[in-house]
Amino acid sequence: MKNIIAIVFLVISTFVDAHESQAQATYLGNEGVMISNGDTIIIFDPFFHNNYDIYQLVPDAILNALFENSEPYNDIDAIFISHAHGDHFAADLVIKYLQKFPQTKLVAPAQAIDQLKALSEFSSLQNQIVSIDIEYQDSPRAIYLEDLFVEVIRVPHSGWPNSRLDVSNLVYRVTLDGEITVIHMGDADPNTLHFQPYENYWQANHTDTAFPPYWFFYSTYGPTILSDIINAEKSIGIHVPVKVPQELIDSQKDYLSKPSETRTVHSHH
Ligand SMILES: [Zn+2]
Repeated sequence: MKNIIAIVFLVISTFVDAHESQAQATYLGNEGVMISNGDTIIIFDPFFHNNYDIYQLVPDAILNALFENSEPYNDIDAIFISHAHGDHFAADLVIKYLQKFPQTKLVAPAQAIDQLKALSEFSSLQNQIVSIDIEYQDSPRAIYLEDLFVEVIRVPHSGWPNSRLDVSNLVYRVTLDGEITVIHMGDADPNTLHFQPYENYWQANHTDTAFPPYWFFYSTYGPTILSDIINAEKSIGIHVPVKVPQELIDSQKDYLSKPSETRTVHSHH
């Protein structure tokens, strides 16, 4: 009997440990991803209006759940905005959300904050907002927001060096509860020149799962950046067109393309 009790205890404690060391990624649409680690929940690029007739919008059912604070889209600790393009950011929805949920923080490039400033509600929301104003090749920034450790660096938007140089595209590395680390890259340009000089920064914190734009998978340097330079255990592609490119399907890489689909994020800390 004692042995059985010991085995049951072992099984239960193993299960509890396993449970504590994994988080969940839930796909919203385009580059919208929610990461939940127990009660600590963050969302990247959740609110936007444009899909340019190519990309996945966040369905009304998910948007409504977010605004109604219904599970699993409830009690969001922080919203992260990669850049102020119409398929990643809509000032009106972000303002509406922050007004409704005063405990939620917003971390966004100054270019996005400038759009919020143009709206009359902005002044009452300032203590919820963290504005990131950094230039290309500036040192990474680090911010503590209660259960979140946020590291951020500006990496040029895809099209570099020919276009969109003025766009402040931010790559976030966020550690939740000191347990789970994810990277969201926005529309980062997949060139080692933007990543190699910061190798010490990338190596200083091990990333459990990175969410690159899917073009990283079959660009020249993208795979090396993901697996070697940024120190990510696993990568899951996002910004996938609704009509999934055959090249991506053939690559055998993991990607998110259906709203509300999930992945487990295992901790390697
Ligand atoms: Zn963009």
